[in-house]
Amino acid sequence: MKAIQAVRGMNDITPDATPYWHLLEDRARGVLGAYGYREIRPPIIERTELFRRSIGEVTDIVEKEMYSFEDRNGESLTLRPECTASCVRAAIEHGLLHNQTQRLWYMGPMFRYERPQKGRYRQFHQIGAEAFGLPGAELDAELMLMSARLWSSLGLSGLRLEINSLGSREAQAVYRETLTRYFEAHHDALDEDSRRRLHSNPLRILDSKNPAMQELVTAAPRLLDQLDPESGEHFENLRRHLDGCGLEYRVNPRLVRGLDYYTRTVFEWTTDRLGAQGAVCGGGRYDGLVAEIGGQSTPASGFAIGMERLVALLEADGALTDAEDPHVYVAAVGSQGGFAAHPLAESLRGSLPGCRILVDAGEGGFKAKLRRADRSGAVVALILGDEESAAGTVAVKSLRDQRPQRTLTGEPLLAALRELLPART
Ligand code: AMP
Repeated sequence: MKAIQAVRGMNDITPDATPYWHLLEDRARGVLGAYGYREIRPPIIERTELFRRSIGEVTDIVEKEMYSFEDRNGESLTLRPECTASCVRAAIEHGLLHNQTQRLWYMGPMFRYERPQKGRYRQFHQIGAEAFGLPGAELDAELMLMSARLWSSLGLSGLRLEINSLGSREAQAVYRETLTRYFEAHHDALDEDSRRRLHSNPLRILDSKNPAMQELVTAAPRLLDQLDPESGEHFENLRRHLDGCGLEYRVNPRLVRGLDYYTRTVFEWTTDRLGAQGAVCGGGRYDGLVAEIGGQSTPASGFAIGMERLVALLEADGALTDAEDPHVYVAAVGSQGGFAAHPLAESLRGSLPGCRILVDAGEGGFKAKLRRADRSGAVVALILGDEESAAGTVAVKSLRDQRPQRTLTGEPLLAALRELLPART
């Protein structure tokens, strides 16, 4: 019979990879919490309308990448392609925005029907932060500082920050016309994608990766040169905050993002180490979105980090190959020894929280079991035969150095284990 395989673009995260995910998740929780952000967990499925309204009808995501379906009531639902809209919906629904500011974060799977390739999947995971009720550039700076701190807490270097301002909605509308006129004048030089976007979403043409388009894009008028005065001041303030903290960045006037809801600040973190899919985090301000989704007008700003891409960087650095090996391997032989294994392991788990104890459940004698103990990566084997079991003791064998084997019980046994496993337990 033919084996059933996973859906294209949807990956299993295998046990060899999960230590890197745990590291990322733990560090993210720590860093986000340290800035006063609290976790929110919206559902994975939302009404399709939510994403149509927020992300924008003429974006790639809404036009061709959503996993939408009708449920049994005929209601159109969608597997979330991102989580900002869900956070906004949830914050409105639970009254979290009434006369208060909110700093929220989330973590979980997102779904986009994209062409799968390295670093681009149909189910992928994001960690995101969203803050509400704070109009100033200091919030945008905070989000960038927080992401930078996450990189350093993970030991990642070489990530580059790019920033831009998309101005107010009104400035964007004027710029859209300027840009449309410019690209219309160069219609012959546009590729197919750009022609399609010319009248629906000309800003996205600036994002084109087509080398043949680069000259045209580089010469295009820049929104940054025609910002409304308030957005200009906002952007200057952002730069002062970043400069004041010594956070390096590059102003990239071509930086636009794939979602329609951004106003003023946008930013992206990229790396050279992941080939074509080098963006690891993107974000920006979306002051109009809360009102568009039906709440009271509330300024907001946030970012989303691509977890697969960060995990790829962590794996390339390869620091965690033995992170989840057992510490202690219990090798019991004989019928009495066999029945003493679980009581011993349970008692040690109670006394040594955090110590990973694996009870050998296979066939064979001491030789086979010690071979398995060695292969497991454990630091110490506890050998239990009928004799030890009758005496209530256990033989302690250090697997990674030449210390002599000792037969112990009670507190001396715990002390010996603590000595052999100092950092972990
Ligand atoms: P976005 O929600 O499009 O602003 O993306 C934010 C981040 O999520 C990107 O910088 C990527 O790191 C990651 N990302 C977006 N789409 C995908 C995908 N299809 N597969 C893997 N990561 C993705």
